[in-house]
Amino acid sequence: MNKRELYEKAYGILANVTPLVSDCGQLCNQACCHAIDDDSGMFLFPGEEVMYEDKPHWLRLETSNFTYGGGKKALVAICSALCDRKLRPLACRIFPLTPYIGHNGLLSLKVDPRAVPVCPLARANTPEKIDEAFIDAVANVFKLLARDREFKSFVLSLSRTMDEQEEVFRKFTENPSKKRTSRAIRRSYYR
Ligand code: SF4
Ligand code: SF4
Repeated sequence: MNKRELYEKAYGILANVTPLVSDCGQLCNQACCHAIDDDSGMFLFPGEEVMYEDKPHWLRLETSNFTYGGGKKALVAICSALCDRKLRPLACRIFPLTPYIGHNGLLSLKVDPRAVPVCPLARANTPEKIDEAFIDAVANVFKLLARDREFKSFVLSLSRTMDEQEEVFRKFTENPSKKRTSRAIRRSYYR
């Protein structure tokens, strides 16, 4: 399966699911789509740029300083207006979840600690429950992408960055004990 086929399949799996059955944007005024500055965006997963060869007018791609796989630079997708939902990047479709590779080398799914300041659903004390159908679909996408070596290498680097950020969040929250700041969801382990 080439990268286009892989991402088309991933987008398809996530086409009809959202974090809540109702519109979660009403909880936060769509905070994840209102960037703090014009240059913040979402990482593209390795090779995902094939989905944007036609360059939609609402999207620009920039090279980031985040590296993986021995120095490859990740791309960031920066949207300048409300997007065409059918074309939104994978990172937007899975938010606030993320793939994660632990120190045991296993790939899993968890709530992205980087989402905590933005997304009410990511916080440990939120009353809303993320929809199980959404979690299942995201897990299926990670299972699919786990066959791709570049994806795993990207997630490995991302996971170490998330570990560092989670540590910083812990230090600066009212909760410097061992309590989690992000909601605990783990699902589906694969090699
Ligand atoms: S920030 Fe979270 S709750 Fe708000 S729209 Fe985005 S995913 Fe939904
Ligand atoms: S691409 Fe779409 S879903 Fe993603 S942040 Fe921009 S407006 Fe939101």
